[in-house]
Parts: sequence; structure tokens; C-alpha cells
Amino acid sequence: LNLRIVKLLEDCERGYVPDLEEARELLRLDLDSWEFYLLCAAANSLTRKHFDNQGEVCAQIGLDYAPCSKNCGFCAFSRSAGIVKESIRWDEETVVQAARSMAGAGANAIYIMSTADYPFSRFIEMAHAAREAVPNDIPMVANTGDLTLDQARELKSAGFSAIYHALRLREGTDTRIPAERRDQTVANAREAGLVVQVCVEPVGPEHSDEELVDLMFWGRERGVTFSGAMKRTAVPGTSLEDQGEISFRELARVVAVSRLVMGDTVQGHCTHEPNLAALMAGANLIWAEAGPNPRDTKADTAQGRGQSVERCRRILKEAGFKLRQGASTAALPLVLA
Ligand code: SF4
Repeated sequence: LNLRIVKLLEDCERGYVPDLEEARELLRLDLDSWEFYLLCAAANSLTRKHFDNQGEVCAQIGLDYAPCSKNCGFCAFSRSAGIVKESIRWDEETVVQAARSMAGAGANAIYIMSTADYPFSRFIEMAHAAREAVPNDIPMVANTGDLTLDQARELKSAGFSAIYHALRLREGTDTRIPAERRDQTVANAREAGLVVQVCVEPVGPEHSDEELVDLMFWGRERGVTFSGAMKRTAVPGTSLEDQGEISFRELARVVAVSRLVMGDTVQGHCTHEPNLAALMAGANLIWAEAGPNPRDTKADTAQGRGQSVERCRRILKEAGFKLRQGASTAALPLVLA
């Protein structure tokens, strides 16, 4: 056993936050080592204690299956990948039905997602319709393109509490969006009174420890309400397909380190796609999905990769979590005790 690592993890269990160098070292732990399982144990125990062993389900509804001009190398909607040739937009009735059904199944928050090219005014219309269908105590979260301050205020008026807006790994290189624009959107959302959620994503085998840790601290410094990690899906036909995928064990290691870096500054630790390994390493928040999904070539991911709310709840139970009832606190402003 590396006693220095053991001591670091014991300190973390008492509330110490690893610095950049320590976090990188933890990300390099061998996946078959005792130290790796101690890392998972520390992150797992912190999460379960802090959240009274409660897990939660975010339910995301995609609005459009359409080519997107931002050409992200990991996304099925990237125009340059040529996977999606014609646009399909979910109509209001279908979105409302999905929102009602996912909330009824016990989702703790409803996410409305679109490609970056989806008309903003239409996004607001869909949001109003979904807001009426979802019980008032269940928060709504927007996952869409970059926002001006006025647009962020409109989202707030339409009934959103939060945005999910990650600075993706290699933003500006693997995507056509400058990192500064993503950052500005986060600032605009916060100024408009929306809370911000992020994840270290989409993680692939090519990403260095430095890149992963930098994104963890990027989120921490911006006062986000949840973080965690999502692995990249090697969608056939995307430009990053050939880079392959990391395993769920590797993802669990990223989630565990993220959990230690974020400490108790956040209201949830997410992992995607839903997996038991990360739920045993500090994650307590997973995602159900319906409609178009950038990791799926099926126009309705509920018929493909997407998990239902019911299935997510079973996965959380299998991981030994109690199911949070009502609102996801990760979509509401942080209340400091
Ligand atoms: S990830 Fe979002 S911004 Fe990038 S191509 Fe896909 S829909 Fe467009």
C-alpha cells in the first residue's frame, strides 16, 4: 500500500480537498490496486453521508434530431458527420406527454435539451408547455446552445431553475465553439439567477489527467451545483469514433476524483450513462432520456440507448441508494447551512 495515498484519502474523508497535483495522481491509480478501491471507498462514503444515502434521477427530453452546425466530434448531430440528414422536431404534445410521464414516474428534475441551432423562441414555447405539465415542485433545467444575458433571463421567466452547460473537453478543438463563449454563457446564467450544472465530459481514452482535473476545478471555481463525469460514446460515423471509449471502471475513477475535488460545494455527483461502478465511487445522480440524444442514432433514444426513469430508479436501488422524493436539490440554488 502507498501510505501517502492512504493518508491523502483519509484526509479527504475528513473534508480535505485535493489540490491539482494530488487529484492528477489519484487519476493515475491502477484500476486493480488497493489504492483505487480506497479512492472509491472514500468518495462513496462521503457522498452517502452528505446526502443521507439519497440518489436521484434527472430526466432529459431532446427536442430535435437535426444536423448541427457546431460539428462536435463526439455528437451524432454534427453536420459534418452526416449521420442525421433531415431534421425531425418533437411536437409540443409529444414533449408535454414525455415530461408528464417522466415526472409521474418519479424524476427529480426535467431537462429540456436541443441542438445549438434550435430556434430559441421555439425552445421557450416548448418550455412553457412542459412547465405547465410538470408539477410545480419539480425543477426544469435547460440544456441548449450558448445564451446571451437576455436569453438567460427569458429561460428563467419561462420557468427554468438551472442550465446544464459544460465546458466540454477540448472545447474549441473538438467542437466549433470557443471555450470563452461557454464560459460567458455560464456567467450570463448565473447573473440571470439560474444555477449551473456541469460534468467532466465527454471523457475518452485520449484525455490526459491534466485535462480532466482542469475541468473539475473549472466547475468548482464557477460555483456549479453538480458535477461528475460522463464517458464519450463512440457513435458510429462521428469523427472521434476511432478514439474508442473508456470503460465504466475508468469512468468510476474520474467520478471518484471529481467527488473529492468538488467536496460538499455541490448538491449532487452525476455519472452518465447510468452505471453501477460510478454509483459505488461517489456518484448519486443518473439520467433517464427520451427523444433525440447526441449519443444515439435512433431518433427517439427511449427506443435505443436511453434509460427510463423506472430503470434508473432500479439502478439506484441496486446501488443501495434511497430514492430522493420530489425536487432535485441540484437544480435549485445552494442553501448553505
Ligand atoms: S453536442 Fe450540441 S453543439 Fe455540439 S454538435 Fe451536438 S448538438 Fe451541436
